[in-house]
Amino acid sequence: DIQEKTPQICVVGSGPAGFYTAQHLLKHPQAHVDIYEKQPVPFGLVRFGVAPDHPEVKNVINTFTQTAHSGRCAFWGNVEVGRDVTVPELREAYHAVVLSYGAEDHRALEIPGEELPGVCSARAFVGWYNGLPENRELEPDLSCDTAVILGQGNVALDVARILLTPPEHLERTDITKAALGVLRQSRVKTVWLVGRRGPLQVAFTIKELREMIQLPGARPILDPADFLGLQDKIKEVPRPRKRLTELLLRTATEKPGPEEAARWASASRAWGLRFFRSPQQVLPSPDGRRAGVRLAVTRLEGVGEATRAVPTGDMEDLPCGLVLSSVGYKSRPVDPSVPFDSKLGVIPNVEGRVMDVPGLYCSGWVKRGPTGVIATTMTDSFLTGQMLLQDLKAGLLPSGPRPGYAAIQALLSSRGVRPVSFSDWEKLDAEEVARGQGTGKPREKLVDPQEMLRLLGH
Ligand code: FAD
Repeated sequence: DIQEKTPQICVVGSGPAGFYTAQHLLKHPQAHVDIYEKQPVPFGLVRFGVAPDHPEVKNVINTFTQTAHSGRCAFWGNVEVGRDVTVPELREAYHAVVLSYGAEDHRALEIPGEELPGVCSARAFVGWYNGLPENRELEPDLSCDTAVILGQGNVALDVARILLTPPEHLERTDITKAALGVLRQSRVKTVWLVGRRGPLQVAFTIKELREMIQLPGARPILDPADFLGLQDKIKEVPRPRKRLTELLLRTATEKPGPEEAARWASASRAWGLRFFRSPQQVLPSPDGRRAGVRLAVTRLEGVGEATRAVPTGDMEDLPCGLVLSSVGYKSRPVDPSVPFDSKLGVIPNVEGRVMDVPGLYCSGWVKRGPTGVIATTMTDSFLTGQMLLQDLKAGLLPSGPRPGYAAIQALLSSRGVRPVSFSDWEKLDAEEVARGQGTGKPREKLVDPQEMLRLLGH
């Protein structure tokens, strides 16, 4: 009878979307929620995306941990859905399945030379300094003077900031030991952030821009010519964009105060925004490495959100030794049985209900596309949770008991997969914290899944 009243639900992915969806589902007095995660460790981009020098952003982990401690919630790491267990198998075992597996692919530039050594995605670079297992051996070559980041969003600014921050300021963060070592040897002095459009279209936010302007040891390079006529235009734009543009404009065109002027005069590093430039090709050097990026000069057509960059016909070569592309993410299809919009890179859905598949839901970046901060993902995930609970109440989900984890556990064990539980994760967590202690870091991340499993005796 208890079984009868216990809705068995599972969530795929343990990033903010997975944990916030689970949190909402647990409002149902009997629901049991299992969270499956392909990494041996939880929290998705909160662990592997958010920059190491923004520890306060990671406080959401406390809330997620509370959710995981609920007696009706379980975490099963080291289980890749689509490989170790399929979506139809999950749907068979549970009353409902929520897909919250994020957007793991980076968008390609689709230009010649993209495959040259010294070109990598910002995503991989971020994964490397944050200890994402698959990127732990990236070892970017920072022996060059100039790096170019293609893209002008917050991820691009994170990468620029990590490249330019004096390494001693990163010593007490959870950046990996290996990344810190490479950054200490870095010769990168200048970082360009290239955008197709202009100052009014940048995708980063004001907090991140302010941090760049105040970065110790680095000065901004902005071309006042890019800002001509902007003073009039900003009157019409919404307030957050207006404040952001005013800060850019002030930085580009006004004389800095004495303190800032002194700091910039003594700065050994610099960062600049290169507007109205669209990447055409990564230029190879005679030794087969990259030598720079060829950019098409653009101008803007259209107004408001519909503003597009069109090439003027002029070209410009920007020499550099490192190219990082940061032009966005997209989700992968997880299973042939799940509808997928490959153009938008999302699962087609109405308010989190997957189109044409009753009992299947989605939340987070795989639902909305890869934009928005953790707070946006929270709101969106609560909404999906709400829709699912409504459907449950309306009797739209399968009736009768479902086995839940018991059935999946049997499948996984027959396939030789050993899931990592939340208490296992807490052992790894304690180990990381202990390893960080000697050097004053909040933790030294374990980066090798084999080592993690060994530590757990798996
Ligand atoms: P994710 O966090 O990516 O979680 C998806 C999870 O699913 C991952 O753990 C993944 O391993 C797992 N998964 C994938 N495939 C499978 C599978 N087949 N089976 C099982 N599990 C699977 N937001 C902020 O508010 N502040 C910031 O400072 C900030 N910095 C960011 C920095 C970077 C570099 C990036 C990329 C994003 C940043 N964001 C930040 C945005 C924030 O990270 C996202 O809004 C949020 O993480 C999206 O949540 P999600 O759960 O949809 O995806």
